[in-house]
Amino acid sequence: MPNPTSTRRRFLQAGAALTIVPALLPTAFGKAPIAGSQVISVHRMKLGSFEVTSMLDGFIDIPPAVLQADPALVKSMLSAGGWPDGPMRLPVNTFLVNTGEKLVLLDAGGAKMLGPTAGRLPQCLAAAGVDPAQIDEVYITHMHGDHLHGTVTPEGGRMFPNAILRIAKDDMDYWTNPEVEAKAPENQKGRFIPAKRAVAAYGNQIKPFRLGDELTPGIKSVEAVGHTPGHSCYMIQSGNARLLAIGDTLHVAPVQFPRPEITVAFDWDQSKARATRLSIFDTVVKEGIPIAAVHLPFPGIGVLRKKGSEFVFDPVPWQLF
Ligand SMILES: [Zn+2]
Repeated sequence: MPNPTSTRRRFLQAGAALTIVPALLPTAFGKAPIAGSQVISVHRMKLGSFEVTSMLDGFIDIPPAVLQADPALVKSMLSAGGWPDGPMRLPVNTFLVNTGEKLVLLDAGGAKMLGPTAGRLPQCLAAAGVDPAQIDEVYITHMHGDHLHGTVTPEGGRMFPNAILRIAKDDMDYWTNPEVEAKAPENQKGRFIPAKRAVAAYGNQIKPFRLGDELTPGIKSVEAVGHTPGHSCYMIQSGNARLLAIGDTLHVAPVQFPRPEITVAFDWDQSKARATRLSIFDTVVKEGIPIAAVHLPFPGIGVLRKKGSEFVFDPVPWQLF
């Protein structure tokens, strides 16, 4: 047990020293220039023996009117979720899976094709210590710009020069079909551009698959048609650990978790999109499978549970490895 007198003496000596030290320092408080910019967002977690790295490509703002429901109801749900009354800011996440054998990127963000608010994936990869040339395969959930544009450089080249691009055949058949494009309304024609750029850049490095196929040991396509004709989720499994990457099964968390029957205007087939979301949400709750979603707040990974008729999302706890 320490001698109280000597402890007190040491304390007094330390106190005396403290009165001197600040005078020797230039200032007692740190002062740094205001950064004026955002930092790069990268988050890593273990999944069995795999590692899953979430990378925030950026965000897109979309009007609440895209939600196919009574605007007053939408407004009240957004407000209950703490969202402002105005454009809905949807994050754009991408997920890098290292299986130990392969580096697989799930979706690739929107590059600068979506404007200045996206396109940070290359900086995220750099922060994660990954060279784009190391990526073996890129699995696309569907061929919309906020998922596919990031595979192509601004000059039209391959962002991932050595990667095989895997896309469901049903999505390829739709988005690369000139007859489908010709029939699309004039204001929708721009939606075919991402597919054109990806095909031009990757050519036969694109390998279409059938929905439900296993693409590499530990990653399997899960059919989730509705948002687009070939929309695919991906089940990632290492040992008993599973994670379902749900792509665009969900867009607007404060609306579609409590009311999963509400669709968005750009769902290709409204009733299929609705049924798919309900079925996937029910399955992950029943089986306790965590989800990774492109448009959930970064890092976009967590667990769904059911409360009455509503679904509730709990973000994944951080791992310190
Ligand atoms: Zn999307």
